[in-house]
Amino acid sequence: MEALVLERKDKLSLRDFPVKETLGPRDVRIAPRTVGVCGSDVHYYTHGAIGPFVVKEPMILGHEAAGQVLEVGSAVTELKPGDRVCMEPGIPDPRSRATRLGKYNLDPAVRFWATPPVHGVLRPTVVHPADFTFKLPDHVSYAEGAMVEPLAVGVHAATKVQVQPGDLAVVIGAGPIGMVTILAALAAGCSRVIVSDIHEPKLELAKTLGAVLPVNVRSQRLADVVSRESDGWGADVVFECSGYPPAMTEIFDLVCPGGKVALVGIPLEPFAFDVSKAQVKEARVENIFRYAHVYPRAVAMIASGKIDVKPLITDRFAFKDSVEAFDFAKAMPSASVKVQIELPG
Ligand code: ZN
Repeated sequence: MEALVLERKDKLSLRDFPVKETLGPRDVRIAPRTVGVCGSDVHYYTHGAIGPFVVKEPMILGHEAAGQVLEVGSAVTELKPGDRVCMEPGIPDPRSRATRLGKYNLDPAVRFWATPPVHGVLRPTVVHPADFTFKLPDHVSYAEGAMVEPLAVGVHAATKVQVQPGDLAVVIGAGPIGMVTILAALAAGCSRVIVSDIHEPKLELAKTLGAVLPVNVRSQRLADVVSRESDGWGADVVFECSGYPPAMTEIFDLVCPGGKVALVGIPLEPFAFDVSKAQVKEARVENIFRYAHVYPRAVAMIASGKIDVKPLITDRFAFKDSVEAFDFAKAMPSASVKVQIELPG
């Protein structure tokens, strides 16, 4: 099958690539239709590794996917050929301790698409467990379905910090994860979100998502704006979505006494923060890693109109232009948020 293959660092090709997959009784065979390009895919392309995960052999990229069911295993009754679905890319070991505790995102043995040595889904077909495949209502597009993966991260973060109705939130970083976190925070009940970034076009887009106050940290101090907007009290919740250490060091200046901080962005290097600042505020810190049991809620909020992910899909490429799509995402113009690849079908 023709697939988008990361041969090694800096080398992508669209070429025939055989993948042996058998359809088990609880599996479905799916034709991916839309696949989002994630920062992690691009990072494997430019660096050949993320932390301990190193690309040692050619690997198919892509993990944010929606598609159509082609075939179902003998024990699958809830899905049928023709169904439109989105797929959760991480498959935990069902018997692992983490899975049995309901924290399957933390299963050390999880197999996650496009994380070496597991292939991703920029290819014509993939076999996937029915348990991690979710039906899309007719009025939800494949493009929206492929946004469920990043959106699930934002929903998981808003859930873990227990957003309360009326909370003032800060979101640091207006990249794709910052944007979906804004949507999730507002849907969860935040009265307002203050978002910071250095790219004006991203802040302009963020402003259209709801009650959002953009702050360009090139010209304004985020802590000053938060203080002004909260009568000096601070934000109820701070979502750190940049992974950028200099931005991360000030999170405890932004949060209110007794407030909450969600660390969502993954820093590429270790960073230091002032523990005593966190202590005097008794700030609660939640660490966010992917999501567990979030897909049905994320799909439901897109379906009901509670969350609109469409403004975030800024750029589309055909599957035959996948390499170009990745080079575009590598350079990432500041007006772009999410690049998606559309497969024929
Ligand atoms: Zn992703």
